[in-house]
Amino acid sequence: MRIYSDFDDVICETAQALSVLAKGMFGRDVPYENIEFFNLQKAFSLTDEEINRLMDRAHETDFLVALNPIPDAVSSVQALSAAGHEVVIVTGRQSLCHEGTSQWLRNHGLGHLEILYVDKYKRAPATLPAHVPKMLTIEELHELHFDIAIDDSPTALDLLMHRTQCHIIVFDRPWNRQYTGIPHLRRALTWQEILALDIIKT
Ligand SMILES: [Mg+2]
Repeated sequence: MRIYSDFDDVICETAQALSVLAKGMFGRDVPYENIEFFNLQKAFSLTDEEINRLMDRAHETDFLVALNPIPDAVSSVQALSAAGHEVVIVTGRQSLCHEGTSQWLRNHGLGHLEILYVDKYKRAPATLPAHVPKMLTIEELHELHFDIAIDDSPTALDLLMHRTQCHIIVFDRPWNRQYTGIPHLRRALTWQEILALDIIKT
C-alpha cells in the first residue's frame, strides 16, 4: 500500500519543541497539552512579529534536526517499509526546510523515504532557490494516489475529505480532538494503534 504520512507531530514532536521555544523567546507558557489551536500564533498569543521570529528559528536546520521522534514512529515506519508498503512523507513544511528534514530522516534510519512538500497551508514562497525541491500545489496533491493517509492538522485533513478510497487516520493531538470534518475518519492515539489496524495488517 501507498501510505501518506505527515511529518510534524506525526513522526516528530514539533509542537512540544515550539512550546519550549515560545517560552524561551517570549515567556509564553503554554504547555503542549494546552495547545488547543493548530494556529500557533493564536495558541501562544503571539504578535505578528513574534510568530515570524519564532518560525524563522523553527525553520533553521539545527532546530529541525534536534526534534525528538514521536514514540514508536521510527520503528513503525521501518516496519511498514519492511512489509513492502511505500511510506511517503507528505509535509506542509516549506521545502526551504529540506536540509533539516532530510537530515532528520537519515539520522533516524528513514533516509529511504520520499519527501513531498505540499503547500497545504497556502504559504509557499513565490519563488524558491534552485537547490531546494519544488512544492506541490493542493491540486497536484489531489492527483496523487494513497491507500492510507495519516495527518494531525485539521486543515490538511480537510484536503483529504473527498478521498473515498483512502483510509484517513487522524493522529490524536490536543488541537484536533474536536475535528469531525471527515465522517469516515479513524483516530489513532499511537503508532502501535496504526500498525494494529486491520487495513494495514492485511
Ligand atoms: Mg503535522
